[in-house]
Amino acid sequence: MSAPSPRFACPRCHSALSSLAADELLCPDEGSLYRREAGIWRFLLPERAAAFERFTREYETVRRGEGLPRGHHARTRAGGAGSP
Ligand SMILES: [Zn+2]
Repeated sequence: MSAPSPRFACPRCHSALSSLAADELLCPDEGSLYRREAGIWRFLLPERAAAFERFTREYETVRRGEGLPRGHHARTRAGGAGSP
């Protein structure tokens, strides 16, 4: 029993991708080209990549916010009136 060769589906329309080269896959329906870089298939859609980029930027903003001396405030509240 031979193992089936790995088939990839287009992340957008889920059509079976046809391989153009060893590390290039083409969606026959849309003509989208997906590449394998450093052994990893890049199936990230352009719009998804943009969303991830935005998320990363927002995440970094949040982390920067946590870096601000707001810990003082939290500690004051925790040790303030009302705590045991
Ligand atoms: Zn497609």
